[in-house]
Amino acid sequence: MNIAIDGPAGAGKSTVAKLVAKKMNMIYVDTGALYRAIALYLIEHQINADDESAVGAALDDIGIVMVHEADGQHIILNDADVTGNIRTEAVGNMASKTSAYSCVREKLLSLQQNIALEQDVVMDGRDIGTTVLPKAEVKIFLTASVEVRAKRRFDELTAKGEPCDFEKIAADIKIRDEQDRTRTLSPLVQAKDAYLLDSSALTIDEVVAKIISRAEGAA
Ligand code: C5P
Repeated sequence: MNIAIDGPAGAGKSTVAKLVAKKMNMIYVDTGALYRAIALYLIEHQINADDESAVGAALDDIGIVMVHEADGQHIILNDADVTGNIRTEAVGNMASKTSAYSCVREKLLSLQQNIALEQDVVMDGRDIGTTVLPKAEVKIFLTASVEVRAKRRFDELTAKGEPCDFEKIAADIKIRDEQDRTRTLSPLVQAKDAYLLDSSALTIDEVVAKIISRAEGAA
């Protein structure tokens, strides 16, 4: 069985998907991490996000491997484990810009599909239910209001001791939503057969329970 969880930044996809995967004994796959790994490489090599051909040329030098260990998913970028390094706002913003390019999406499509072929996965992203795993047995479109999502991100960064500003986070979320929703290729949209789940007023446990009940119904 494959479970696809799509939705905008900060909707709680990864928290929820990890818990669903654990409870259902499945592998959790965070596809945003792949886009982030490419973004990290581009930042480190000072490649301009607006220069599509430079981004395309750089892709040949980028090798990404996703491995699943006892402590979760690790991303290996050209032999270096960058699992922690890709979690910054700068990398997220770069990923949102460069994920609009077909060369970037093509490079990552088969990688994601192959992972799901080999095992039962709970995969989260933006286009999993529409493009990556259109035949997933369970599809969830998880969303929440901008304010709730910004507050969650603010709390997350504050807990990590990273200085941050609520208004800036909310503004970045709006920009990312706009970029992800309006791009031509694989935009962030709810798949026709996906279940819409608004987590604004729900606890994590409530969201997890709703997804598991749908998965059990589909099994
Ligand atoms: O989910 P996360 O914030 O880590 O994703 C970073 C960026 O990668 C997103 O803003 C989105 O542009 C892109 N992404 C995507 N398709 C996916 C997952 C992520 O375009 N399946």
